[in-house]
Amino acid sequence: MWIKRGDMGFRGVTADHLVAVDLEGNRAYGDGPLHTELWLHLSIYATRPDVSAISHSHATRLVAYSAVHPVWPVIDQYTLEMSIGMCWHDRSGLIVTRSLGESLARSLGTGRTCILRSHGVLVADSTIEAAVVGTVELGRSIDIQMAARMLGDVRPMPAEDADPMRERFLARRENRVKNMWGTLTRPS
Ligand SMILES: [Zn+2]
Repeated sequence: MWIKRGDMGFRGVTADHLVAVDLEGNRAYGDGPLHTELWLHLSIYATRPDVSAISHSHATRLVAYSAVHPVWPVIDQYTLEMSIGMCWHDRSGLIVTRSLGESLARSLGTGRTCILRSHGVLVADSTIEAAVVGTVELGRSIDIQMAARMLGDVRPMPAEDADPMRERFLARRENRVKNMWGTLTRPS
């Protein structure tokens, strides 16, 4: 598994700051301290052969959202997409041991996105591009949830409207990931 070294934030990370570890958490390549939450990643890879990339974030608004009552009303197209394969991991604290990682992997199950209570979020997907785009979309969905809750009582979309929209999203997801990855990586 490749992961950034433990003393770097996301900003400024290059290939020189990556460390490789085996699935027991032993360093195979690279310098610097190992990431504190290795087991968050390793435990999911151990049980999910379909997962090749995991994005995990402690961004301010994502941590804030992870600390509120766990409901996810589907109120628009973005919150609808993120509701597919979503998990709520109800245990707080960093994932610093194998047993904590295994507990998280059980919560995630076959899902894709997870909100970790009073901690942050993760997106587990088949490619780096899909995991990163999924995390950006999850952040956008949380912004929508937060804005809607501030405006008043939230009204979930009726199933007869949400269900066909979900099918369209799933059918076009690969193309959407490609387009959004291009937007995210385009030089400004
Ligand atoms: Zn974390």
